[in-house]
Amino acid sequence: MRNVHSFGAGQWIAPGPGARPIESAITGDVIAQAGNDTLDLQAMRAFARDVGGPALRAMTFHDRARMLKSIALHLRDHRKSLYDLSFDTGATQSDHLIDIDGGIGTMLVFASKGRREMPDGRVYLDGGIEQLGRDGQFIGQHICTPLQGVALHINAFNFPVWGVLEKLAPSLLAGVPAIIKPATATSYVTEACVRLIIESGLLPNGALQLIAGGVGDLLDHLDCQDVVTFTGSADTARTLRANPNLLSNAVRFTVEQDSLNASVLGLDAAPDTPEFDLFVQEVGREMTTKAGQKCTAIRRIMVPQAHVDPVIHALTDHLAKITIGNPREAATDMGALVSNRQKTDVLTKADQLGQEAEQVFGDPENFAMTQSKGAFLPPMLFHCPDPDTAQAVHDVEAFGPVSTIMPYRDLDHVVTLLDRGKGSLVASVITRDADIARDITMASACFHGRLYFNNRDSLAEATGHGAPLPHMTHGGPGRAGGGEELGGIRAVTHYMQRTAIQGSPDILSGITGQWVSGAAKTTGKLHPFTRPYADLAIGDTLASKSRTITLDDIDTFAHFTGDTFYAHMDEDGAQANPFFPGRVAHGYLLLSFAAGLFVHPDPGPVLANTGLDNLRFVKPVQAGDSIKVHLTVKAKTPRTAAYGEVRWHVTLTNQDDEAVAEYELLTMNA
Ligand code: NAP
Repeated sequence: MRNVHSFGAGQWIAPGPGARPIESAITGDVIAQAGNDTLDLQAMRAFARDVGGPALRAMTFHDRARMLKSIALHLRDHRKSLYDLSFDTGATQSDHLIDIDGGIGTMLVFASKGRREMPDGRVYLDGGIEQLGRDGQFIGQHICTPLQGVALHINAFNFPVWGVLEKLAPSLLAGVPAIIKPATATSYVTEACVRLIIESGLLPNGALQLIAGGVGDLLDHLDCQDVVTFTGSADTARTLRANPNLLSNAVRFTVEQDSLNASVLGLDAAPDTPEFDLFVQEVGREMTTKAGQKCTAIRRIMVPQAHVDPVIHALTDHLAKITIGNPREAATDMGALVSNRQKTDVLTKADQLGQEAEQVFGDPENFAMTQSKGAFLPPMLFHCPDPDTAQAVHDVEAFGPVSTIMPYRDLDHVVTLLDRGKGSLVASVITRDADIARDITMASACFHGRLYFNNRDSLAEATGHGAPLPHMTHGGPGRAGGGEELGGIRAVTHYMQRTAIQGSPDILSGITGQWVSGAAKTTGKLHPFTRPYADLAIGDTLASKSRTITLDDIDTFAHFTGDTFYAHMDEDGAQANPFFPGRVAHGYLLLSFAAGLFVHPDPGPVLANTGLDNLRFVKPVQAGDSIKVHLTVKAKTPRTAAYGEVRWHVTLTNQDDEAVAEYELLTMNA
């Protein structure tokens, strides 16, 4: 018997009064217990707020991203211990790759994005500067700063590791401590994962706590600085949503709940096409991975009327080859459901589907594991010939290896059927016809959190209908809960407050740590290209001498590069163009001359020019005009111990001090 501990206020706390038994999915025997009604939840919340939060907020985004990377690598080194435990949840080795390796991979993506897409500071900028006054002395900027409460993550049983890590990574990256509450049924796996993290010593105290068992009255004490994320059933979500304290304090509450996801075989995907085979593979895989206990699993299979029989035939063939059994055995393709309670629930729901659909595969009374006391079921495939009058097939989620085939006539019909799921996490369409893809998107995207298109061109790289990726949002409208997780840095901002900052350029520059147009500049004696990364300060500026452009320069550049566009070569043609007063200098000539004006020729800290952003030519330059350059340090981002990226704001002006071009130059500086 394993005792699943909670971890609160720095202590591991054993199960106590109110502990619930946990059974092995494979044998049905009780293998663990979890829960303790005497947990001091208020002390845990205070510990997160008073100890964990300040420690995390003292770090920069890059510090926290590096911390995530170390945690993920530590988990990867110890993942085998998690595999060993996780078999008892009914999961196979390939299921572990989704839950355990998938969770670690998700954390690594956030670690990498945090360093590439966020500043090495404590304020995240959301969008660009808004000029609010006429002369640029009153400007606005949206910023995000971390909430000062706790993220309470309540998870479903099906992903005891991925479910934790996909939520923990963005909340820690934001700078917000977390309390994890896993589903009791698989909490022993989550506990082992949390133990690995805590014992690694990589997290500050208070950044991560664990509740094994119920959350008591914790929700009644949260406030506007806290966030609750919930993944689970629609019924539990409804109860939690109605919590009066969450409502009256407008506590952020994100819901990922069940969903009747669909997959559509395109009208173009006839039985002899690669798309047809791909469709059968994807549906078969979604039905059997994690024994169908995936929130994104395909529950409704939509097939052109003419192809229903071939699809039934091909899918039943596919499912007949699936080996169901003890997930510890290498030959097993599909393990058990999480518990016998879950099995009973799935059978009850399958009976409801059976009222309006014919079962064409899978007999729970007669399959390889019928005699087992574990929570085994065969894949169960239904065929609903009349999906227009049917209700249950669009409404009842049997959270197991259960799915229903239904015919459709045309695109209007399939879109109507798709939308009858009343909001889903994901719909997939297997088609090579971009018109079909566009028509379904325009008619139905608003009902789905994700649309997944696949065909022979993308299949080798496609990540699968059911895989939520850290880069893309996960969540869906309506029935799916209306929540949103993941989606790159968006996920991090779910744990931050977006605030519109208004003020002068100097004030905004001081708050954000980035130079903005109009803020003070410093011109020193040393050329900034001679100063190492560490010595450069935001606002450091080089003001170049000026250079006059001649007609000869324009001709030489045109013939040297081959760019003899008429606006540079033909006075009459250029004058007839609404943008030019006559022959003008090439924009790239100006950029090249600008470089000639600002570079320092000797070897020095500038290692490379890695690109430029936001280039705008704002006023034409003609022969006889003189240009000069202002080069200002706008932002600095460390990349390695040896060098960092400097973003320079560059303005080219003419002899009348009018801007002719602006851009941001990127260099790597030692
Ligand atoms: P569940 O019974 O709703 O439980 C979900 C979580 O809520 C568990 O941690 C559970 O803890 C907790 N909980 C239950 N009652 C609570 C209460 N009154 N206060 C606070 N917490 C409470 O769902 P499940 O059976 O674990 O998961 C299956 C469902 O999750 C399916 O419907 C599936 O579609 C959905 N799901 C959705 C997603 C998604 O991303 N959209 C992902 C996975 C699963 P205990 O276990 O201790 O009761």
